[in-house]
Amino acid sequence: MDYPRPNIFISKCLEHGHCRYDGSQITSPEIIRMMPYVNYIFACPEMAIGLPSPRQAIRLIINDKHEERLVYSMTGEDVTEAMRAYSIAKAAELAEMELDGFILKSRSPTCGIKEVKLYKTHGKTQSISNKSKGLFAETIIEKFPLLAIEDEGRISNFNIREHFLINVFTKAKFREVTRNGAMKDLVKFQSDNKYLFMAYNQTQLKQMGSLVANHEKRKFSDLIKDYEYHLSLLLKTVPQQKRNVNVIMHILGYFSKQLSAKEKAYFLDLLEQYGKQQVPVSALTSVLKLWAIRFETEYLLSQTIFEPYPISLITVSDSGKGRI
Ligand code: SF4
Repeated sequence: MDYPRPNIFISKCLEHGHCRYDGSQITSPEIIRMMPYVNYIFACPEMAIGLPSPRQAIRLIINDKHEERLVYSMTGEDVTEAMRAYSIAKAAELAEMELDGFILKSRSPTCGIKEVKLYKTHGKTQSISNKSKGLFAETIIEKFPLLAIEDEGRISNFNIREHFLINVFTKAKFREVTRNGAMKDLVKFQSDNKYLFMAYNQTQLKQMGSLVANHEKRKFSDLIKDYEYHLSLLLKTVPQQKRNVNVIMHILGYFSKQLSAKEKAYFLDLLEQYGKQQVPVSALTSVLKLWAIRFETEYLLSQTIFEPYPISLITVSDSGKGRI
């Protein structure tokens, strides 16, 4: 299968430069594994506002007026305004770049998307129990509410990584459809993704279906924006095991008359193991794909649910961290 390359913005210290406060960079096997398949666009917001590397660490503090400020941890020198101005300008620049997603550095006071430590003041003091987002991440989350935004810690979890990869590879494919501007490509996109989308969100799938049916004879350039909006909402839906099982049973229905009793029993056992989280959903979709090949079910063979992103990116390694 052919996969267009997603455009992903990434914090530079994640495998792209020694720009952390201590002059180091972060290693991430997941980010390295994705390198042959995606375009990484990177920047270090702290260096972009003129901070050197190595440098003194910075932190987020919450002052008496309940404002969050980005300051040097030891001296208290405030760099909030510089970071805000940079973040707004950079977000505007990135909005022109057809991005499909973000991977930001976890827990950084600049790039962290959640769980960033907050302090009452600079100097030697403990963090408080409340957590926040980094200043740059906050602007990105506001500016790109419909894109997948993750951090390198979370994508080491199998389910979170799978959801992220489905998002960015589906968006990249959709950009290709948009660029070509042909209604027939959009019809094929909708058809090829039917079962994947059904597993995500049936309401959005129906909305997209009626847009593609185009009874009002709208122009492609007008209709595609609405379609993109619903696609983004669909991909924002948190995947659920129950919906996956529903779609799997639906696909199984294509072969039910041709399978032997033993084959069906084996598959239902596998389904039970999936229900107990002992096997990933791909264990089931692999068997279904094999049957689609054996019974020459052409319609199913083009379904992206069998391989929504390059197979080499499937690894069942799992940090066990985080939830979608
Ligand atoms: S977390 Fe962000 S600001 Fe900090 S070093 Fe990495 S890229 Fe730079």
